Amino acid sequence: MNKELIKDIKELLSVPRKIVITTHYKPDADALGSSLAMYSYLIKKGHDVIVITPSDYPWFLSWMVGNDKVLIYDAEKERSLNNTIKAFNNAEIIFCLDFSVMERVQDLRGILEKAPGIKILIDHHLEPQHFAKYEMWDTTAAATAELVYDFITAMGDEDKIDIPIAECIYAGIMTDTGSFRFPNTTAKVHLIIAALIAKGINNFKIHSLVYDNNSEDRLRFIGYSLSEKLRILKDKKTAYFCITAEELKKFKSKTGDTEGLVNYALSIEGINFAALLIERPDAIKLSFRSRGEFSVNEFARKYFEGGGHRNAAGGTSNLTITETENKFIDILKHTNIA
Ligand code: 5GP
Ligand code: MN
Repeated sequence: MNKELIKDIKELLSVPRKIVITTHYKPDADALGSSLAMYSYLIKKGHDVIVITPSDYPWFLSWMVGNDKVLIYDAEKERSLNNTIKAFNNAEIIFCLDFSVMERVQDLRGILEKAPGIKILIDHHLEPQHFAKYEMWDTTAAATAELVYDFITAMGDEDKIDIPIAECIYAGIMTDTGSFRFPNTTAKVHLIIAALIAKGINNFKIHSLVYDNNSEDRLRFIGYSLSEKLRILKDKKTAYFCITAEELKKFKSKTGDTEGLVNYALSIEGINFAALLIERPDAIKLSFRSRGEFSVNEFARKYFEGGGHRNAAGGTSNLTITETENKFIDILKHTNIA
C-alpha cells in the first residue's frame, strides 16, 4: 500500500472520528465482510462508526459480527432515510468498500455524492470513477477483504485483527475466489488465509455457514432451474438461465437464493460464457461469468450498463425479461466467444 496515503490516513484516524462505511447494492460476502471487518476494527480504534448498506443482503451472511448494527437504507424507507441522511451529513470520513462506480449504490447515490466527509475507497473492480480523495484500488486483489487486511496491516494494527474481524475477511476472500479456486487465488491469498487461520478462526465453520445452510425451497429452486431453465448455445460456447419473477415467487426466493446459480452454467464442458437473467422488481439483473480470455466486464459495460471483473461481472436491463433475453441472444450472434 502507498506509504504516503497510509501516513495521511493514520493522521486522519489519530483522533476519534465520525465514520460511515458503505458498500454496493445487494452486498455479497466480500462487500459485507469487508464493511463489518472495517467496522469492528475502527470501533476498536475508538471511532464512532456506522455501516449503511443500500439494500438488504443474503441471509447466509447474518452470522457476521456487527450484522445487527447495519443500517439498511431501503428497509424502512422513512426512518432509514432520515437516519441515513443524518449519518452521511455528520460523517467526517466515509469508507466506500467493494465498489468504484457510483451507480452501484443505486438510490443512495445522491446522498453519498452530497456528503461532505472525506471519502476513502477500497476496491478491486475494473475501471473506477475517481470520486474519493483517497483510493486503495487494486484490481490484482482477489477481494476487497484482501485489501482491508492489507490496510489494517499497513496501519501497523495486525494485532487488532481478532476472531470476528478475521472471520469477516475470510468470508470475503473465500467467496470472491470461489473457495480458493478461481484464477485470482494467488500465493498472497493463501498467505493471508494462513495468517487468519493461525489467529484461531474456524474456517470449516465459515464454509458451512455460507454454503451448507440451504432452505429446502432454495435447493428445489436450483433443481428446477437446472432441469427446466438451463439453455445451452453450443456453437457460442454459452449457457444461461432466464428466471422470471413468478418463478422466484413460486420458490419463495429470498435475497441470496440465486447466488452461485450462474456457476453451474459455466461448469459445463465446452462452455466459456455463462449468464443469469433475473426479473427483479425494479429491473432485470444480469450476472455474467467466463472462462479464459472473454471479458464479461467489457460485455456488461458495452451492452448492459454494468461492469465488474474480466471473468465475473454484472449489469441491468430496463426491458422486459423476454426482450432482455432476445437482446442477449442477438448480441451473441455477432460476439466471438473464445
Ligand atoms: P454478481 O454477478 O455476483 O452480482 O456480480 C459479479 C461481479 O460483478 C461482482 O464483482 C460485482 O460487484 C460486479 N457487478 C455486478 N453487477 C454490477 C453492475 O450492475 N455494475 C457493475 N459495475 N458491476 C457489477
Ligand atoms: Mn469483491
